[in-house]
Amino acid sequence: MHTTHDAPRIRDNFLAVRQIVDDAARRAGRDPAGVRIVAVSKRHPSWAVAALAEAGHLDFGENYAQEALAKQDELADLALRWHFIGHLQSNKAKQIAGRFAMVHGVDSTKLAQALANKALALGAVQDVLVQANLAAEAQKSGCAEDELPALCETIARTEGLRLRGLMLMPPFFDEPERARPWFAQLRQARDALQTRLGLPLPELSMGMSGDYVAAVEEGATLVRVGTAIFGTRN
Ligand SMILES: *Cc1c(COP(=O)(O)O)cnc(C)c1O
Repeated sequence: MHTTHDAPRIRDNFLAVRQIVDDAARRAGRDPAGVRIVAVSKRHPSWAVAALAEAGHLDFGENYAQEALAKQDELADLALRWHFIGHLQSNKAKQIAGRFAMVHGVDSTKLAQALANKALALGAVQDVLVQANLAAEAQKSGCAEDELPALCETIARTEGLRLRGLMLMPPFFDEPERARPWFAQLRQARDALQTRLGLPLPELSMGMSGDYVAAVEEGATLVRVGTAIFGTRN
């Protein structure tokens, strides 16, 4: 369990991750400013988020609706950018739309429509990413690769939503290099969709604590890093 004495260590961890991300971006010939770190604070306390916010970091990721909303309320006086990165059921969409800068895991027209309905009721536009299940893993959420064009086209036409790109949870490997081909494949899928839809899709949300270096080298614009910043979750 953490204590607030860990705040400096969390900030140091973040700076170390930032340095590694910047180096990876430069190796790939990319501008490091084009990679945002989403600090995944799920199952870590609000003070840990505040500790990083104090150091100027704004992007935080959560994947449980109730926990995320409770933290947002506790930290309401900080102007943070929250990312919803978890699997979302359509019946929970109305709690989420309008309260997150980005919803990363949209994988069905039903969920997209539920988010859009709430965003419209709020007079807001919700930024979303479509989660792709490129490896067709039965236990994982995400849209099948051959259904990506239809889903993305529908979302692009849906008032209340703004499609910004794609998100990926690749198959799990102990060896991060094995995730690399999936990252490259997501980038290629994004490039093809941009051409097909004639829309800019600037964001690629891919890479976690174990594999974010390969993800950045393959084009990630959002890496979702929890453990390497906040330590092991309870
Ligand atoms: C928990 C989680 C992360 C962060 O995982 P770490 O291995 O702790 O960096 C990233 N993305 C999603 C979707 C998650 O649920």
